[in-house]
Order: sequence, then C-alpha cells, then structure tokens
Amino acid sequence: MKVDHHLHAEFSYDSRIKAGELAHRALELGYSLIAITEHLDLLPWELSRWGLPAFMRYIDHLRPLQSKFAPKGLRIIRGVEVGDFHRVKSFADEFLAELDFELRLGSVHFLSDGTNVAIPFKRPLRKEDSEDYYKQNLTLAENCDFDVLGHLGVHKRYLTEEPPETHCEGVIRDIFSALISRNIALEINFSSLRKPYGRILPDQWQIDLYRDMGGTLFSIGSDSHLLEHFDQNYELLPSWLFSNEVRLIHADP
Ligand SMILES: [Zn+2]
Ligand SMILES: [Zn+2]
Repeated sequence: MKVDHHLHAEFSYDSRIKAGELAHRALELGYSLIAITEHLDLLPWELSRWGLPAFMRYIDHLRPLQSKFAPKGLRIIRGVEVGDFHRVKSFADEFLAELDFELRLGSVHFLSDGTNVAIPFKRPLRKEDSEDYYKQNLTLAENCDFDVLGHLGVHKRYLTEEPPETHCEGVIRDIFSALISRNIALEINFSSLRKPYGRILPDQWQIDLYRDMGGTLFSIGSDSHLLEHFDQNYELLPSWLFSNEVRLIHADP
C-alpha cells in the first residue's frame, strides 16, 4: 500500500492542491495513508509576508474528509510542517499546544544568516553553508518536539550533482543519534526527483549511515504543492523502504 507523509493543500500559502481532490486521487491510486502538512512558518519575515494558515478552519475542514475516507481504506492525517522550529521554539510550542495535529514535521528552510535554501539557490553552495545547514538540523533534532525530520538536504535540490559533504559527517551522525534516541522518523523526500538534483533526499550515504546506526523509522514525502506532482516518481522509491526492516510512521492501522 502506498503512503505519502508530506503534502501541502489549500491552507498553505504556496500550494494549489485541494484536500478533497487529493483524497479522491489518493484513493484511486491505491494509497492507504496521506498526511497533509500545512506550513507553520513563524519567523518574522515569513509571518509578515505570508501570514498564517487558518489552522482552526484547516482542522475543521479535514475532520469530515477523514471520516468520509476512512471507511474506504484511506487514512488522512492532520499534520503540520513547522519551519525552523528551533528558532521560534517557545512561540511554536504554545501554538501547537492549542491545536490538535496528528503529525508534526520539523524542517529547516533557512541558514543562520537568513538565506532561504528551499528555493533556487542564489549563490554557489559554500562548505560553511552546508555545515551551517546541518547544524541547524541538529539543534532542531535535539531540542524540539516533533515526529518527522523533513527534507534533510533540501539545500541541494537545485544542484545537478552531489556536492562533497564528508566534512559534515560528524554533525550528520549527531543528527541521526538524536532522531534515533528521540524516536523521530527520517523522511525520504522525493521532491528532489522533479528538481535538477534528480535523486532522493537525504543522499544515499547518509541513509546508509542512519541505517548502520540502527535507524529504522522512516517517513515518505513527495512534498507536493500541485496535484500533478502527487504520486509522480513514486515507483522510483527504493524497495528496501517497503521491507520488514523498516518501520513507516503511522503505517499501523
Ligand atoms: Zn519544507
Ligand atoms: Zn513541505
């Protein structure tokens, strides 16, 4: 059965997907689980530009869809993607305590100097940029309460080949230790298959490292913002992801 733990619908400022249409499409395509993870971006320059989704309306909108599709065999999860959680922690903690989300995805979109690495990159990736990026992920993984670490390596989506990142191995190892000890899933993000990078994230050697360290908990995310991206390239996901050695978050009935 197919699953997608990372999708954006009409309550995210940058998505054109309608949750109802998505659910119909997912059912047609044989999915057993989809998680909608609307953006919660609380950094001041994001708030002033995009505002916040109407989360109460989002939750009210999803509940009837969940009840409608559950008997048909499709589980719809009410999720949220908390951007740069570690930088807005007390505000985000308060906010999340008020709302009933079933899955919290944590992700890093900005370097410490404010550069957005989730959009086409404006300058060549420097060694210290990637190091800074992974350090942000480490702070997030060690300090915040969430279920899935999203799109590790998002800063590479607009590159055409794998950059040397062995200098970050120590930090990446520490991220994985934190994920494993805190029971946080590592996301296999395949949005990068439709970008210049053309391979899944994180890079293979990082996935191997996580598994060698004993990591077994994963999630699968297309990170779709357009309905035509949903299910695209799903067949290219590695078969080990669906083997008995792997646990997929929320996959148990
Ligand atoms: Zn993101
Ligand atoms: Zn996302």
